[in-house]
Amino acid sequence: MFDANNRGVLELSRRPGNDICADCSARDPEWASYNIGIFLCARCAEMHRGMGSHISKVKHIRHDRWEESQVQRLCEVGNSVAKAKYEKRVPPCYRIPNEMDCDALLEEWICAKYQREEFYRMERQPFMAGHTEGYLMKRGKEDPRYYPRKFVLSEANDTLKYYVDEKKDPKSSIKVSEINVSFAPPKMEKKSSFQISFVNSAGLTRHLFVYHDDPQTAVNWYNAIRCTKLHRLQIAYPTVSQAQLVNLLTKDFIHEGWLWKTGPRPTDAYRKRWFTLDQRKLMYHEEPLSAHPKNEVFLGHEGYAIRVGVPAGVRDQKYSFTLWTPERWFYFSAEAAVDRDAWIQAISSVIETPPTPQEVSMAARMVRKRGIFSSR
Ligand SMILES: [Zn+2]
Repeated sequence: MFDANNRGVLELSRRPGNDICADCSARDPEWASYNIGIFLCARCAEMHRGMGSHISKVKHIRHDRWEESQVQRLCEVGNSVAKAKYEKRVPPCYRIPNEMDCDALLEEWICAKYQREEFYRMERQPFMAGHTEGYLMKRGKEDPRYYPRKFVLSEANDTLKYYVDEKKDPKSSIKVSEINVSFAPPKMEKKSSFQISFVNSAGLTRHLFVYHDDPQTAVNWYNAIRCTKLHRLQIAYPTVSQAQLVNLLTKDFIHEGWLWKTGPRPTDAYRKRWFTLDQRKLMYHEEPLSAHPKNEVFLGHEGYAIRVGVPAGVRDQKYSFTLWTPERWFYFSAEAAVDRDAWIQAISSVIETPPTPQEVSMAARMVRKRGIFSSR
């Protein structure tokens, strides 16, 4: 039965603020939490249900019956008022997920807002402590198994350390201000995982793959690293705006997947490699979870171009494309036209924009191994 209360809910759902999901900003939400007083998309409504009805009671705005008092509650609160309350003290370093993000980030955001009330009670923000330690499951460097390793994050020292044997020195001490963290890249096939990438003392990129069974712990680690990095960058670059620094904290990979690469001679074979586009760095690896890339190329702006096909004389596979850099040309081939086009679009989006000063300094740190790209 569609009555006056249903019409009231529908009318409220079209008001500015209520026309996007309160938690992930998806358009035209069709659900509502009638005790909190907000409109939600189907995915977030399901996550609200997961917290239990003592936290959030959800209904469909058209398919369920509505009581007058429930409509009244939605009218009094609504998404804008709820946001002012539940997101009052979201620190700038916290990653606020959107509809494109993975379940773990979105679920923890919702639980942090309504169940743990982390954003209007500052003392409940574990990621802001400046020091985090605990166990994460870390993939072996040469060994695909995961082992529990103690990790210690210190804002005062700008370090993330991990230990194989806690009585000994750390196995590795990484500068937090120079790392990137990609949350739950699909290749890891684990919901609460992340990949930490940094340039080691030899100038080579190293990847660490870690996870924790508890999504709350994993997301806390991720945001703790972001917060530590922001505070360190604020010290290092006092004149750069906070918004610009927040943009440098962590970046999910722009694109990843298998490609074949070949050299300039018609006799050169195509080799299958796992490619990762991490900001302006195009890396290729033996396997998706390799500890190091076999090589990496910095993608600049002037003198860079990408086109479908390969020049005459270069062995052509069906879905080939060419990347021009000032130093040399690279020849790739994808498994299908759709993959090739996705790579061309991803790389184009990077090389169309001039690099920032921070990106130029990253390029300077990368070891240049001229010629190796084609021969390995
Ligand atoms: Zn949503």
